[in-house]
Amino acid sequence: MTDEIKTIHDFDFNLICEYFSGLERQGPGSPEATLKALSFISGLNGESLIADIGCGTGGLTITLAKNAPGHITGIDLFPSFIDLFNFNAKKVNLESRMKGVVASMDKLPFKEEELDLIWSEGAIYNIGFEKGMNEWHKFLKKGGFIAVSEASWFTEKRPEEINRFWESAYPEIDTIANKVEKMQKAGYIPVATFILPENCWIENFYKPQVLVQENFLKKYAGNETAEEFVANERYEAGLYYKYKEFYGYVFYIGRKI
Ligand code: SAH
Repeated sequence: MTDEIKTIHDFDFNLICEYFSGLERQGPGSPEATLKALSFISGLNGESLIADIGCGTGGLTITLAKNAPGHITGIDLFPSFIDLFNFNAKKVNLESRMKGVVASMDKLPFKEEELDLIWSEGAIYNIGFEKGMNEWHKFLKKGGFIAVSEASWFTEKRPEEINRFWESAYPEIDTIANKVEKMQKAGYIPVATFILPENCWIENFYKPQVLVQENFLKKYAGNETAEEFVANERYEAGLYYKYKEFYGYVFYIGRKI
């Protein structure tokens, strides 16, 4: 019985990893948004140490490595994503400047005041924005930067359906003003915030999933877990198209005081 449950859990985990491994990015974003966020960062050089936390398969880390000097450590909890990260780095000859390491974002393998820049796109929600901002602070050098993207409300009030969805999916979703306050209280000067354009969700996140979903449903025809998972992803995408004026991802860039 125990074995059976474990097998089901293993399958779920592998299933989700397999689904997202077929995508260049595992969250909303774009090379343009990554570069825009990078434009607010100063003082990096060839010796700089950068962490990309919740790096996934490294799609955006490659953009970072091509456009910022220094060494990047990609951190992700899932070994299959890190394998792909290191494989992708090699493919573009960047393996000497970006290395993927399996670790959890709540137990980072860095020394205090070691990092010049902490990057994290669409991933800090796994630990929570406030907790991540506070706990990661000690790993940055004084004057070092943090740049994270995070789901945020654009308005004070929202339609009930989308409010309910997000309050259950990620209760820490909040307005931009409240997130900036949390960043400031965690010990950073708020340097910039900007809303990720819609193409980061539609062109780069939801549209590439359409083909992945079709192939997935063919491969796992009759598998209820797979069908339910795809149905959830489609529901979430549908909500975005319907309510995108009320929420989205926002980049928060801060500098350690
Ligand atoms: N930054 C990437 C991936 C975002 S998806 C991109 O924008 O494309 C979120 C990532 O966080 C996933 O790769 C997931 O495996 C990772 N993750 C989830 N929980 C984690 C944890 N506790 N520690 C480290 N990474 C985690």
